[in-house]
Formats: sequence, structure tokens, C-alpha cells
Amino acid sequence: MPSFVIPDKCDGCKALDKTACQYICPNDLMVLNKDLMKAYNQAPEMCWECYSCVKICPTQAIEVRGYADFCPLGASVTPMRSTDAIMWTVKFRNGTLKRFKFPIRTTQEGSAVPNGGFKTESDDLKSQLLFTEPDSNRCPERKLPQVK
Ligand code: SF4
Ligand code: SF4
Repeated sequence: MPSFVIPDKCDGCKALDKTACQYICPNDLMVLNKDLMKAYNQAPEMCWECYSCVKICPTQAIEVRGYADFCPLGASVTPMRSTDAIMWTVKFRNGTLKRFKFPIRTTQEGSAVPNGGFKTESDDLKSQLLFTEPDSNRCPERKLPQVK
């Protein structure tokens, strides 16, 4: 089942230029009703249930039906992010609560190096190289297969 917004919990991301769920959805599905300041999924049939909007929503206003391999029918699944971990709360139909906490990063927040520190000189759109290659694949350019 696709994502859905619980209106009572959504604050429209306090009228920022773009809401968090709009920013994160890879399918551009989330939109904000500016009159009500509530977001909604404009094309549920296009939602691939990736959980990105669920995880980023600061008010836990978005839900997706949990996959059957980790929670039974009728359970709700709510994530709570911190700077280094995510806590999933699964609420079963009979009220039982289970919580699972997972680390989400191995480096301190804000310390990740863009491009992994590799050079990014290959900005030629006609080049066969990908961004940061050939350094990042440790293969000298002259040894890469070339298309004539
Ligand atoms: S991220 Fe959450 S609070 Fe913000 S607009 Fe979307 S549903 Fe509402
Ligand atoms: S679950 Fe993924 S695809 Fe569906 S609305 Fe949320 S971010 Fe978009």
C-alpha cells in the first residue's frame, strides 16, 4: 500500500519553501495543499513504498503499510531518526509494541567527504568516464575499453 499522510500530524513543514517529503520523494509524488498546510501523495499508484518520506517526516505524519516480512497485517510502522541511528516502532493489532534500533552512519554527521576525496575533473559530457573516474575505479584511463 502506498504512503499516506495523517493530516492531524502534518504541519506542512512549517511553510518552508519545500517540504521534507517533497524534497525526498524520488517520484515527486508528495505535494502540499497550501490552503490547509497539509501534504498528500498525489499519485499513490506510482508510489514504490520506498519509505523515504516516512523516514524524513519530522512529525511522523506519513505511514506506509509495513512489509509482511517484518510486521503482520494491520500493524503500523513508525521510524524516529536521530543523528546516528533510526528507531523503528512496530505496533501490532493487539497493541503489542516492538522497537528496533539500527545505526545509520559510520562517520560523524557533517564529516562525509563529497566525492570520496577523488578528483572530479571529468566534466566532459562526451567522455565515457563516470564522475570521479578513473581515480575511483583505480583503473588508468588508457586501460579502460574504448568505443571507437
Ligand atoms: S514532511 Fe511530514 S510534516 Fe512535512 S509536509 Fe510532509 S507530511 Fe507534512
Ligand atoms: S514511499 Fe517513496 S515513492 Fe512513495 S511517496 Fe514516499 S518517498 Fe515517494
